[in-house]
Amino acid sequence: MSDSASAERRSQIVADVDFGRDGKQAGNLSMPWSSHESAYGQIQIPIVVVKNGDGPTMLYTAGTHGDEYEGQVALMRLARELEPANVCGRVVIVPALNYPAAEAGRRTSPIDQGNLNRAYPGDPDGGPTAQIAWYMSTVLLKLATGYHDLHSGGSSLEYLEYAGLMLCGDKDLDRRGLDLLQAFAPPIGVVRKARDGRAAQPAAHRLGVAALGGEFGGRGGLSRHGLGIIEAGLRNQLKHLGILPGWNPPKPAAPTRLMTWTGREGFVYAPAPGVFEPLADLGEEVEAGQPAGLLHFIDEPTRAPLELRFAVPGMVICRRAPARCRRGDCLAHLAVPWNG
Ligand code: CA
Repeated sequence: MSDSASAERRSQIVADVDFGRDGKQAGNLSMPWSSHESAYGQIQIPIVVVKNGDGPTMLYTAGTHGDEYEGQVALMRLARELEPANVCGRVVIVPALNYPAAEAGRRTSPIDQGNLNRAYPGDPDGGPTAQIAWYMSTVLLKLATGYHDLHSGGSSLEYLEYAGLMLCGDKDLDRRGLDLLQAFAPPIGVVRKARDGRAAQPAAHRLGVAALGGEFGGRGGLSRHGLGIIEAGLRNQLKHLGILPGWNPPKPAAPTRLMTWTGREGFVYAPAPGVFEPLADLGEEVEAGQPAGLLHFIDEPTRAPLELRFAVPGMVICRRAPARCRRGDCLAHLAVPWNG
């Protein structure tokens, strides 16, 4: 479908904030959603707009996956703290973008099982998750100079905290994305090629918007370290864009360490159901052949556990959170230095 044809399909979501008005507005994106429990009901997604005059617009979202909390908390705090008088331009904040998923504390929407980060460009006549993606594609991302979607490993994974950039192949856009990443000044930045066009960052790239992501914790909890990285990083970014000129960026403890994910060879998967005993910690540098962990079989207590090994060297950037796993679950994966 061409862009012009798709733009004619209007979202059913209505905003009660005026994106063109100066000041701080807290309102809702309201989507009609008729269910057994609520015949004329709406899904109401909170949104905060802080605007002062002309200038760039930074769009922040969290809760794309509902069980990832560092971004949600950091954005609520930013929404409370930002004052129009301190802003030059506009900041649009949606802390719980896939609201039904965030309300349920789940990665996916309990209404349509939708994974919002696999739903772009979306569909104005689809389920709630597809409708949210479509509203992002046709309204919110079109307002944005830059976009940052804040993630973590959710309930099933834990990540060493990092800000992330997906490269799209457009030199100017990739440069602007890398500038936004450097401005964020995280301890670790992960740069990798966009592989799935249904994710939020590629959707932004298709509209010429520089976009970032990142994983700031996991286990379905809230990493204080990840939260701290986000809270300073957002303000550093806004300073970089000229939106928050009065912010004094804290001096980073160390320069950002740029890394990238390995290919499939750096991922360890469960070949059978079992209980996974990890033998390498997050952040640990491992050698090829080094044990990733042991898989134990509860039905056969005397059977020796299966030793799973890393196939390549790298740093453990992600591990599965629950010990209990099924065949096909990702148990760990590696990152390696990024060399541009
Ligand atoms: Ca996520």
